[in-house]
Amino acid sequence: MKPAPFDYHAPRSLGEALDDLAGAGADGKVLAGGQSLIPMLNMRLAAPAHLVDINRLTELATLDVEPGGVRVGALARHAQVERSERVAAAQPLLRQALRLVAHPVIRNRGTVVGSLVHADPAAELPAVLALLGGSVRLARRGATREVPAAAFFTGPLESATGPGELAVSAFFPLLPARSGTAFREVARRHGDYALAGIAALVRLDDDLRITAARVACVSAGPVPVLVDVTGACGHRPPASADWDSAARAVQERIEPEADIHASADYRRHLIGVLAGQALREAARAALDG
Ligand SMILES: Cc1cc2nc3c(=O)[nH]c(=O)nc-3n(C[C@H](O)[C@H](O)[C@H](O)COP(=O)(O)OP(=O)(O)OC[C@H]3O[C@@H](n4cnc5c(N)ncnc54)[C@H](O)[C@@H]3O)c2cc1C
Repeated sequence: MKPAPFDYHAPRSLGEALDDLAGAGADGKVLAGGQSLIPMLNMRLAAPAHLVDINRLTELATLDVEPGGVRVGALARHAQVERSERVAAAQPLLRQALRLVAHPVIRNRGTVVGSLVHADPAAELPAVLALLGGSVRLARRGATREVPAAAFFTGPLESATGPGELAVSAFFPLLPARSGTAFREVARRHGDYALAGIAALVRLDDDLRITAARVACVSAGPVPVLVDVTGACGHRPPASADWDSAARAVQERIEPEADIHASADYRRHLIGVLAGQALREAARAALDG
């Protein structure tokens, strides 16, 4: 199929883009990497009257490691973020997750910020933003706001981005010393969206006892599901923590749905197995860190 007709806008500056989006209002859509939007247009699952292509806004192709975190501009492609050694050293969870996003050709074009705005509950990056407690910066003509992850994902394929707004960047906070992260998922084929996935974070104190352990679950609800399992780990050293009980606590908190790919029970099973694996791996990374 072919898309429904639309007016194409090709702004050359952020100001122009915000003017175009303000003029289009609820009838406008931003085109970033196009890896999700173009198929949706072709299948007529979306039919915006105005398409605002931000690919000429090189001012948004930024990737900055700031003192408190990594700020990813709206035109930074998945591949650019994945390959950055500075980003991997500052916030390893980004590379751990991005390696699992689609295939290399899609990562060459798709953007991190576009993936967040698209807000697919099966996508990796919303879980990363939620787990780290990051935020997305939204701009409209004359105003900017920073929306925390907890308020950004509002439903499947729905985010807090309103009509006339452009997500200009996303912020992924750094973690203190003695923290470790891991990302585990199961997909039917490498590069497919995950049937289930887990982003995990474990933090230790100076005595190498667990002070924080939490996960964000992928494909386990309408938005990334955050579960704090610090209590289940019981302030112990990683070697004697009850990771199986922590994994069960995660399973009890999710309400996965069945679809053509997996039953709800199978998803719950996968989430438990992956949570146990990811938490152990994150704890090992925290001991090394
Ligand atoms: C075969 C295939 C497999 C894939 N597998 C995975 C996978 O395993 N995991 C995964 O996470 N993703 C996967 N993707 C999606 C891919 O990661 C996309 O790149 C991503 O979802 C969207 O990024 P984009 O830059 O392409 O956004 P686009 O497709 O351009 O836009 C997506 C949506 O976000 C909006 N948008 C984009 N940028 C902005 C912005 N700056 N401000 C406001 N609105 C904006 C658009 O209007 C649109 O509604 C897959 C895609 C394909 C084609």
